[in-house]
Amino acid sequence: MERLQKVMAHAGVASRRKCEEIIQAGRVKVNGEVVRELGTKVSREDTIEVDGVPIYKEEPRYILLYKPRNVISAVSDDKERPVVTDYVQGIPERIYPIGRLDFDTTGLLMMTNDGDFANLMMHPRYKINKTYIAKIDGFLAEADMQNLRRGVMLDKQRTAPAKVRVLSTNDRKQMSVVELTIREGWNHQVKRMFEAVGRTVVSLKRERFSFLDLGNLQPGQWRELTAFEVDKLR
Ligand code: URA
Repeated sequence: MERLQKVMAHAGVASRRKCEEIIQAGRVKVNGEVVRELGTKVSREDTIEVDGVPIYKEEPRYILLYKPRNVISAVSDDKERPVVTDYVQGIPERIYPIGRLDFDTTGLLMMTNDGDFANLMMHPRYKINKTYIAKIDGFLAEADMQNLRRGVMLDKQRTAPAKVRVLSTNDRKQMSVVELTIREGWNHQVKRMFEAVGRTVVSLKRERFSFLDLGNLQPGQWRELTAFEVDKLR
């Protein structure tokens, strides 16, 4: 059983908040009866009508994709470049990515058709750890590591404290591989954080999102999250 406004929001009627207004306005019938109570619970078997039109109840889907390089984190692209939903075949629901990874970033990207869940995962208040592996030019001095850990200024805003660990360095190629764990999800945040300490990111991969990792997935492969994982993330 789920709350009526949540089922309506899943079905694409409107945002959850707007659905609450629609319910209170008496525009919703459950099994033929007008319902104005926001706490009303409904099941798959119930018939829900909004303004007399039955809604199609989508099954909520939660997908973890290993995003390959050179793919857009969107459901379509006007330049016809590959998009992340191209990789998830056999799911009839209209899923979309939760947040974005850059075109050239690889790694863990979740997708869903559950708007509440997507908002929860992206909301800054929840401070979900995201771990990235960045290959950078050159090396990080101890002071750079301290700066990244304490937070650097990006557009007049300081990033939250981060975890930084150098995984390896290559003197011949003048490169380092660094693990960085951040809690926000600002645009190009990892690349900009390294830029702020004078380094350029050559390649970037998201390894982990909260407790989830890529496991045995290869680029382009995906799996559905288990009910346990979805509950744990909520
Ligand atoms: N930070 C970036 O700079 N790029 C990404 O794709 C993700 C985080």
